[in-house]
Amino acid sequence: MVGAGPTGLMLAAELALAGVGVSVLEQQAAPSGQSRGGGVNPRTAEVLASRGLLDAVTERAVTRESVGGHFAGLPVPLDARPWRTRHPDGLLIPQDRLEEVLETRLRELGTRVRRRTVLTDLVQDEDGVEAVVVDPDGTRHLRARYLVACDGGHSTVRKITGVPFPGRAGTMSAVSADIELAGAADTVPGATTHISTLTRTGGGYWMLLHPLDAEGGRVAGYRVVFGAVDSGLGEPSSQDRAAPVTADEVARALAAVHGPDTVLGRLRWGTRFSDACRQVTAYRHGRVLFAGDAAHIHLPTGGQGLNLGVQDAMNLGWKLAATVHGRAPDGLLDSYHDERHPVGARVLANTRAQSVLMSPPPDADDVRALREIVIEMARLPDANRYLAGLMSGLDLRYDLGDPDPLVGARMIDLTLRTGSGTRTVSELLRTGRGVLLELGGPPTPETVVPAAVDRVEARVLDSPVGVELGSARPADRVLVRPDGYVCWIGCGPDETPDAALARWFGARASVRA
Ligand SMILES: Cc1cc2nc3c(=O)[nH]c(=O)nc-3n(C[C@H](O)[C@H](O)[C@H](O)COP(=O)(O)OP(=O)(O)OC[C@H]3O[C@@H](n4cnc5c(N)ncnc54)[C@H](O)[C@@H]3O)c2cc1C
Repeated sequence: MVGAGPTGLMLAAELALAGVGVSVLEQQAAPSGQSRGGGVNPRTAEVLASRGLLDAVTERAVTRESVGGHFAGLPVPLDARPWRTRHPDGLLIPQDRLEEVLETRLRELGTRVRRRTVLTDLVQDEDGVEAVVVDPDGTRHLRARYLVACDGGHSTVRKITGVPFPGRAGTMSAVSADIELAGAADTVPGATTHISTLTRTGGGYWMLLHPLDAEGGRVAGYRVVFGAVDSGLGEPSSQDRAAPVTADEVARALAAVHGPDTVLGRLRWGTRFSDACRQVTAYRHGRVLFAGDAAHIHLPTGGQGLNLGVQDAMNLGWKLAATVHGRAPDGLLDSYHDERHPVGARVLANTRAQSVLMSPPPDADDVRALREIVIEMARLPDANRYLAGLMSGLDLRYDLGDPDPLVGARMIDLTLRTGSGTRTVSELLRTGRGVLLELGGPPTPETVVPAAVDRVEARVLDSPVGVELGSARPADRVLVRPDGYVCWIGCGPDETPDAALARWFGARASVRA
């Protein structure tokens, strides 16, 4: 594994959970301490819950009122509750704090990140990958059966392997920074309310400003994101993305938008970002795979990049583990590309659509008219549900060949009565194995369940997410993959999960007690 950002840490933890030996190479000497990604969307919150990580993340999250999601910053809160989630608001958590939780889990599972270790070259053959790395003791060669590039938007692995990364170069540059204020005008938001109320323009700038953390009940730090209005989202003078963000430019922008009483106290850190938009054409090249920003980059609107990477990792982890253990059915590892490439492409498309609505060109009347129509549409319940599903990651449904709406969709986190007490679906998934839920009576004895699947007899109890499974046809048995997606449903003794168990978990079955 190359890279210990959120994608690499999540994937390494998934592999370690499945008993796979993994080396995580990270060039940085210490965790970045940079907030960058500021949030976990509702689907990622569910994913974290399904590995028992959500409590630790919630402890480190920024407390806020329920404000709803957004599309293109438009003033219509998106309501994810119709998607029947326990976490409709997601969580506001600086990326470095999420990484801390993931790295702690990885350590608990017996794996340490190899820091100050830079991958400089690699070659692959039929049996594995040889990586050349430089660490404080010099240059060494490491060999692994597979290598996953989780090394971010500037991926070294992508460059070494020459994997195509088609798309569009950035057309703008904006600044994101974490700051402390020495003085704040009344216009400075005191709470993290809906994004549309946190954005202002003034003095030629647009700016998003919201509290990030507190000390002794008072706001201590803020996140500020800004650019120049006249060139759309960007600031022409800052097109050099490598130029460090300076306290002067942040102070100038703050004063321009919030007036002279708003005074910068300290710039904690800052970065520039663009609307560059690219995706690798194939997520698998032999024994080298790509995940997270190494596979896709886009404008960070709607806070989707980190979430996409964590969910790539959830999709890949159990498939790669089964492959390494030699029990993967044919095609399982390739299904990673087949399932996740369209998901990444869809995020690239929605960020491009949002940037059109957010960055009016100088003759902006047409865009303003379009924005008004989208605002009106987003107020319609069905359209709001659609956009909330798109932006929260909850509407994702993989095409697994069965038209039933439940097959390929995430399993709703129902509350169940089981032989060992009341359990939620997410609690049952914490082992990292698949789950065959028997909801209609005693299981048929002739079904042989592979070791990678837990068979659980259960009754659905009423819960905040309701009691409906969400299938169009009757179902009393549901097979859930380790990543939380339903891969088969059946009803009655004649519909057996045998073919689905073989397809997803391998034919070499053994009975579990
Ligand atoms: C301003 C801004 C705001 C954002 N806001 C959000 C948000 O609100 N929500 C959201 O979901 N996303 C957001 N994102 C996107 C999010 O930060 C990224 O999508 C996320 O960091 C991707 O994680 P990753 O693990 O794939 O890559 P990275 O976090 O980039 O991690 C890659 C790691 O690989 C290491 N590495 C690179 N090359 C090598 C090498 N050769 N050898 C060893 N190690 C190497 C790097 O040091 C790094 O630690 C934002 C991004 C920006 C810039």
